[in-house]
Amino acid sequence: MGRAGFSVRDFRRQVVGVDLKVPSINGGRVNYINFDNAASTPALRPVVESLNHHLKWYSGVHRGTGYKSLVSTREYNRSREAVADFVKADPAHAVVIFLKNTTEAINKLSYRLGFKAGDQVLATAMEHHSNDLPWRSQARINYAGLDEKGRLDMADLEEKLKKSYPRTRLVAVCGASNVTGHLNDIHQIAALAHEYHARLLVDGAQLVPHHPVDMKSPADPAHIDYLAFSSHKIYAPYGSGVLIGPRETFERGAPEYSGGGTIRAVYSDTVYWADAPEKEEAGSPNVMGALGLAATLRFLQRMDPGQMCTYEESLTEYALQKLGEIRGLTVYGAGPRVAVISFNLAGVPHSLVGAILCYEAGIGVRTGCFCAQPYVRYLLGERDQYFECLNNSGVCRQPLPGMVRISLAAYNTRVEVDCLVGWLKRISGKRQDYIRRYRYDSINDEYMPREFDVSRLNSGLGKGRLL
Ligand code: PMP
Repeated sequence: MGRAGFSVRDFRRQVVGVDLKVPSINGGRVNYINFDNAASTPALRPVVESLNHHLKWYSGVHRGTGYKSLVSTREYNRSREAVADFVKADPAHAVVIFLKNTTEAINKLSYRLGFKAGDQVLATAMEHHSNDLPWRSQARINYAGLDEKGRLDMADLEEKLKKSYPRTRLVAVCGASNVTGHLNDIHQIAALAHEYHARLLVDGAQLVPHHPVDMKSPADPAHIDYLAFSSHKIYAPYGSGVLIGPRETFERGAPEYSGGGTIRAVYSDTVYWADAPEKEEAGSPNVMGALGLAATLRFLQRMDPGQMCTYEESLTEYALQKLGEIRGLTVYGAGPRVAVISFNLAGVPHSLVGAILCYEAGIGVRTGCFCAQPYVRYLLGERDQYFECLNNSGVCRQPLPGMVRISLAAYNTRVEVDCLVGWLKRISGKRQDYIRRYRYDSINDEYMPREFDVSRLNSGLGKGRLL
């Protein structure tokens, strides 16, 4: 099917919930602005409609013989092709495994690489905890350093590869940071890793939703060996994630989860495993999640991901320029970046900024350390303050260090950015008033308006209340 091309007006119309109004504590309702797309993106209307339509065919896959099961099985397997196609994985060589999310995908890989004593993983100091902690439990881990702007130091990466050769078996790096949005040059990193006989995992959770990805042929030194990403960050409903990697990685050994669907034959003393991907997807899979991801990727491909990316780049530039006009506002990190921007406003705790935007402006952002504490601490130039803020029972004595993060998507507009910037200017100008109107809840490390009735949250749902 030909490409429809991208226009923000058309795309915006396809986004579920884009016209939502939410209550403001100042009275009335305001248009909701979702600047928390790095956490989860809303679903797309045509995809939801097509999935709803398809639900009558929804059935168990693989082991059924009924017609519905045949249809579901065919669609489930076709979903793998849509994923491989979207990131240009070579189907002759790579396998697409459906999992829960990026975190599960990276954990799976950490088990399935079969590390031996002394084997090392080289991650970076800018990783999400999901691309850090799984490696710590399976191998020795080292981190490539950063420059003063929080960008990956490629010379340090190479130095560490050289020094640890041949022990480093894997380089694990985010395609784009979920804190600064900084884009890593994944193909340059791939070429370096391969030169030192290591493989490369790209954590694509923040890359794939924003930027066209080409895993390239395995014959190309710049190819990506493993890629993981989550569907809930790329407009797909019903939760699923994928791990893509060479079939050969999953040939040896037992999967970390075993059970139904993973085997060819079972005897009381022997198990013959199925081939990947079935071997790696224990139990009944999330069929609707896989179908939802495939339908979304096909839809985005028709929209033209290249044009979406160009639009997001110009919106990000615009947001950076507007934020730069606010006195006392510090943006962290440096370009090139995807549409993720983290900042602080002098004299106002990050979680208070988030609370005001939530309760008064109807703007959804994220505050804190975004599951990347070492990187956030590095950018803030604070080493141990995080823990000094906690007493022995883990309760905060004072607001924890962190940042405010806005993450934009291709349906967001300059008008929405202007609205945010207007609020930030207001907050910055009336700091003390706002500080008085909110109270700090040290148990949850969050600010709440002093006069807020939680029951209003329910009335705000209107017809959106669940059954
Ligand atoms: N890596 C990065 C860079 C992320 O931004 C996230 C989600 N914030 C993850 C991994 C984990 O994704 P998930 O929660 O879908 O497993």
